[in-house]
Amino acid sequence: MTHPIQPQDIDLPAFLAELRTWVDIESPTADRNAVNAMADLAQAAATARGFHTTRIPTDAQTGDLLVARCGDPDRAARILILTHLDTVHPRGTLSGPLPWREDGDRLYGPGVYDMKSGALMALHALTLAEGRAAATILFIPDEETGTHATRTLVEDHARRARAVLVMEPAREGGKIVTGRRGSALYRIRVQGRAAHSGTRPQDGRSAIRAAAKLVLDLESMNDPDRRIGVNVGVIRGGTTRNTVPAECVLDVDVRLPDLAAQHDIIAKIEALTPSDPDISFDISGGVSRPAFTADAGSLALFDRAAPIAEAMGYPLVAMTSGGGSDGNFTAALGIPTLDGLGPDGADAHTQTEHIFPSTIAPRLAMLTNLLITLTESNA
Ligand SMILES: [Zn+2]
Repeated sequence: MTHPIQPQDIDLPAFLAELRTWVDIESPTADRNAVNAMADLAQAAATARGFHTTRIPTDAQTGDLLVARCGDPDRAARILILTHLDTVHPRGTLSGPLPWREDGDRLYGPGVYDMKSGALMALHALTLAEGRAAATILFIPDEETGTHATRTLVEDHARRARAVLVMEPAREGGKIVTGRRGSALYRIRVQGRAAHSGTRPQDGRSAIRAAAKLVLDLESMNDPDRRIGVNVGVIRGGTTRNTVPAECVLDVDVRLPDLAAQHDIIAKIEALTPSDPDISFDISGGVSRPAFTADAGSLALFDRAAPIAEAMGYPLVAMTSGGGSDGNFTAALGIPTLDGLGPDGADAHTQTEHIFPSTIAPRLAMLTNLLITLTESNA
């Protein structure tokens, strides 16, 4: 089978020059104006390519959802491409620890890998298809903090789609993602009783001491064989050195491979109770993203993409990722979902985040051909 677009058709220098303008606008999730400035640029890039765009305001803390549609509205609704414009990096990262920098086949910058390159690839792919592909791209403003303000909008678009393509970066040597662990987030507030530690220690009930035991109880739920992860990532407690601490707060991140593990671990966490009657736990939070396990539809989508990738010169390898993405939401609705279609690279969320630019042309050509194939078979 011949494919209309080949890797050598990609103008990589032009792609990277445009990518630099996207990375130049730093867009941490919590900075609504910064994320909207990034959406302005993406919207201008989409409009210049002749796509129809809409901005959907979310809430006072979150940037807008940008929707870009290429092709006839009915056909475009059937293929949904998910991207996000927010990053985890605070402003000042670009002029500080992580400037735009090329070093051999490594290109560094905040958000370059997760996932401005993937978001830009979606626009380029639909342009390269020259009218043979129809799709809707969502540029999500709050993926890195859990898609709280836009989840319903994402799900509404997904329900009308027959295929969802997620432009999150590739994993571990270019692997594509057909499954992701789910996640749950908890905040546990441990309440004790304050007292002067010198004069009246017997009146105090140390929240830090109770929290220390709680950390051990939580982390004992870790089970690498079942791919269950429980991490107490933040702890805050106490006021002064000579006061028995009345309060201690734990922020907990939980990773869950499947529904059975989800039920199991959630029940255990929510049943945690202090052994001292003068101590109390206030447990808030819950499942933030359901586990994404590849169903027949997602595997069928993978089977359509694999031979195209093969023809573009790289084998498509499926894997289950430890991290979550917006693909978890769409897969949970039963919509065939393929994730990890962005370029290969490494070190997401760190000050050495980078992509391998040599992986862009073959993956962009694959994406373009996949969009053309899906559009033709869905027409
Ligand atoms: Zn991402």
